[in-house]
Amino acid sequence: MKIILIGIQGAGKSTQGNIVSKTLNIPYLSSGHILRNMAKEKTRWGRFVKETINSGVLIPDDKMTSIMEEYLEKPEYKSGWILDGYPRTVQQAENFKERIDKVFYLKVSDEEALRRLSFQANDDRVDKTPDAIKKRIDSFHKFTEPVIDYYRKKGLLVEIDGEKSIEEISKEILLKLSK
Ligand code: AMP
Repeated sequence: MKIILIGIQGAGKSTQGNIVSKTLNIPYLSSGHILRNMAKEKTRWGRFVKETINSGVLIPDDKMTSIMEEYLEKPEYKSGWILDGYPRTVQQAENFKERIDKVFYLKVSDEEALRRLSFQANDDRVDKTPDAIKKRIDSFHKFTEPVIDYYRKKGLLVEIDGEKSIEEISKEILLKLSK
């Protein structure tokens, strides 16, 4: 099963990704997590990734495509995955040659996303300053919303009300996947 999760920061993609991953025994993979590990490398690329993600802007599409293609080549991802954070632009979606089963869009309003983010405990992420969060929300509307339409046109999109409870949302996702 090959599943993509799309949603604004704070929509609950990683929460749902982890639940579905455990329930269906499919590996969960997040592009943001991969990049945050790369940002720790003391190389030119590592510094570039760190600066880019800290300021809330996107890594270039061609780079992103090769990173994800390389990751998905690993044996543990051969029979399926739940992907969070990629593709994030129409260009990335067009570059992505995998056969996808379903794309879930966890829909929450900007206000609700901001409210949730302001309650999240401080973790190791430095891209949670108000300025970086605003850039990420803007970038979602500008670059990622067209990806939602892209998959809707392909008949793969399932839109979920991301403001429901965690349990209701995972139940809905699992039900759609069983159909
Ligand atoms: P996330 O954890 O998904 O919110 O990603 C954190 C940051 O990593 C984003 O703000 C971007 O700077 C970068 N990033 C993650 N996924 C992508 C992607 N598919 N394309 C470009 N940049 C990305």
